[in-house]
Amino acid sequence: MNLAAAPSVEARIAAGAHGFSYRSGVLAAEEVPLAEIAAAVATPLYCYATAGLLGQYQALRDAFAGRAVQICYALKANDNLAVVRTFAAAGAGADIVSVGELHRALAAGVPPGRIVFSGVGKTTAEMATALAAGIHQFNVESLPELETLAAVAGAAGTRAPVVIRINPDVDAGTHDKIATGRKQDKFGVDWTAAPAIFARAAALASIDLVGIAVHIGSQLTSLAPYTAAFGRVAEMVRTLRGQGIRIDRLDLGGGLGVRYSDETPLAPAAYARLIAATVGELGCALTIEPGRFLVANSGVLLTRVILVKESAGRRFVIVDAGMNDLIRPALYGAHHTILPVVAPRQDAVWTPADVVGPVCESGDIFARDRPLPPVAADDLLVLLSAGAYSSVMASRYNSRPPAPDVQVHGRAFAVTRRRLSHAEMLAAETLPPWLGPESRP
Ligand SMILES: *Cc1c(COP(=O)(O)O)cnc(C)c1O
Repeated sequence: MNLAAAPSVEARIAAGAHGFSYRSGVLAAEEVPLAEIAAAVATPLYCYATAGLLGQYQALRDAFAGRAVQICYALKANDNLAVVRTFAAAGAGADIVSVGELHRALAAGVPPGRIVFSGVGKTTAEMATALAAGIHQFNVESLPELETLAAVAGAAGTRAPVVIRINPDVDAGTHDKIATGRKQDKFGVDWTAAPAIFARAAALASIDLVGIAVHIGSQLTSLAPYTAAFGRVAEMVRTLRGQGIRIDRLDLGGGLGVRYSDETPLAPAAYARLIAATVGELGCALTIEPGRFLVANSGVLLTRVILVKESAGRRFVIVDAGMNDLIRPALYGAHHTILPVVAPRQDAVWTPADVVGPVCESGDIFARDRPLPPVAADDLLVLLSAGAYSSVMASRYNSRPPAPDVQVHGRAFAVTRRRLSHAEMLAAETLPPWLGPESRP
């Protein structure tokens, strides 16, 4: 197969990466050649471009220009402290789903008044901590959660600001594992049960019912599901107001898709216009919770080829990053564009390769039959679009320390989450007395 006519590496970077470009034939994050970072930090590593992060944030801000829409960055997409701080410094709030993310958001400088707490299973301890921190709101997803939060707030002698997340029963048309707004999904309050739960919330003394939340899924690339969901939210606002229930805030969730291969992402302006058209006239304060959109294409996973193995007519490119570093291909069949850090010669022939990690699992495959130019041991490759749901899902499987995070800003770069040493990875483990040094079996 001769794929020499494949788009140039420069064109692919331009289409799918923010803040990265080939400079004199070597891929750079902003002004820093990736080879320089690899030499200093060792591979595998994640690298984020500040200009890309801020560019996406600004594009969304600009789309809502003139409208007071609070952007609460969904930390679960990438909770690296420096990434969160980058957005916080630009004015973003935070959407959190655990008390661990609360600590990170606060440590990164997000004001408590800009933090919203989502998630289907908040514990009482998490509720108490978030209440004491004075967060903006709890996005409550069920009646039992509402009752528990009321008890926690009552015991603390305070009132919890609450929006109730409704499940609009809308299919976001995305991957099954990242759809959240259909009635069979575990998220939100069932549409038909919602009015009774709102009425209950309005009656609870320790609950300050302030609004409605919705989040129908991730990686949305069409407007139709948003139109349907926000239309249902507007309908619910009118119903509830008709019952004398105050609704001042709408939290419209996240989900804006990005380009991984050939998707056409929604234009922020079209998304903003849709929001204005569906809920803009209700007089509510608006919040959105983008995660993936802000980070996905501003990060890459940088990896080095360990060896190339020809076997049974296949070309296996075995790299030093594994599924413990980046699980998206194994988990969702996700596509990550893979490019060499050193641009291949114009006449290089691209032939299919299986790019795989060293983890002892057949599922440790980043790409199958992927056209690649000739590569050899020690060459550097990047997996693009690895800024979201990537380093956050890393594990220590095979006793592999997860790839560290590096952030670039202009000509500067810094390790923002270092690689754990093997001793550190063992540090949390202890031998029980019957196996310890004292034991005499
Ligand atoms: C995951 C999540 C988000 C962010 O989703 P993206 O697709 O990354 O924008 C926003 N809100 C809630 C409640 C979430 O669970």
